Amino acid sequence: MRVKLCFKCKQYIAIRENDFNNSRDLLLFDKAHAGHPTQVVNEEEVANYEIWAGS
Ligand SMILES: [Zn+2]
Repeated sequence: MRVKLCFKCKQYIAIRENDFNNSRDLLLFDKAHAGHPTQVVNEEEVANYEIWAGS
């Protein structure tokens, strides 16, 4: 699975294609982390990060 993570906040959110609720959560994530360094990576690469608990 792919995730989008924020290096500054050490939070990430799962990316699920064709999932409306996930699309909304991704938008909220982008809004919350505007101006922060974010990147899309594989889930295995974010073991030390907190999962996004937004919305
Ligand atoms: Zn952030």
